[in-house]
Amino acid sequence: MILERVIQYAQTLLKKSVSEGEIAVDATAGNGHDTLFLANLVGDNGYVYAFDVQKEAVDATLHRLLDNALEHRAIVLKDGHENVAKYINKPVAAAIFNLGYLPGSNHEIITRPDTTIQAIESLLTLLKVGGVIVLVVYYGHEGGKDERNEVIEFVSNLSQKHVHVLRYEFMNQKNDPPFIIALEKVKEFPKEG
Ligand code: SAM
Repeated sequence: MILERVIQYAQTLLKKSVSEGEIAVDATAGNGHDTLFLANLVGDNGYVYAFDVQKEAVDATLHRLLDNALEHRAIVLKDGHENVAKYINKPVAAAIFNLGYLPGSNHEIITRPDTTIQAIESLLTLLKVGGVIVLVVYYGHEGGKDERNEVIEFVSNLSQKHVHVLRYEFMNQKNDPPFIIALEKVKEFPKEG
């Protein structure tokens, strides 16, 4: 297949942006698939910071890392991604979000527009020039369309001089298929103050 599926394309973007020794963020750890993927990219001298608000997700992510003997490459935090700046003060090479709820779990614990946007803002500051934020937008659940719309509104208004914003989407798939929003930082933001 020439056109990469959404998840495959998200991984392609992460592979292109993360090198050994760098810092990467899994903003919605869930079952830990992306944390493990990033742990393979950062190598033994890099780190993945993984966030999730659910203990179940933190445990699942830690187990996945342990099963692959890569637990030393990740810091798994039971905290919201909106607090990312509390934990990281070095340049971030890439971050990934999967918006929505944890499959097979409580459908009421979903990512929310305010905290998602707050996390994107913080990560844009932390991101190195050339770094990428990948959002895999699931929106079929209750509240999903509101979050999708608010995130689209926010990213559409980012300064083109500083961030390139891409939407990657299959247009003829049925049943609210996920799509990607990718943000590439191309220039440092002016310092505040
Ligand atoms: N990437 C995951 C995987 O590989 O299984 C799937 C992530 S799932 C679609 C979304 C996750 O975001 C849920 O596990 C949920 O608990 C988490 N979440 C919700 N609000 C959050 C927040 N403010 N900060 C961090 N994680 C959050």
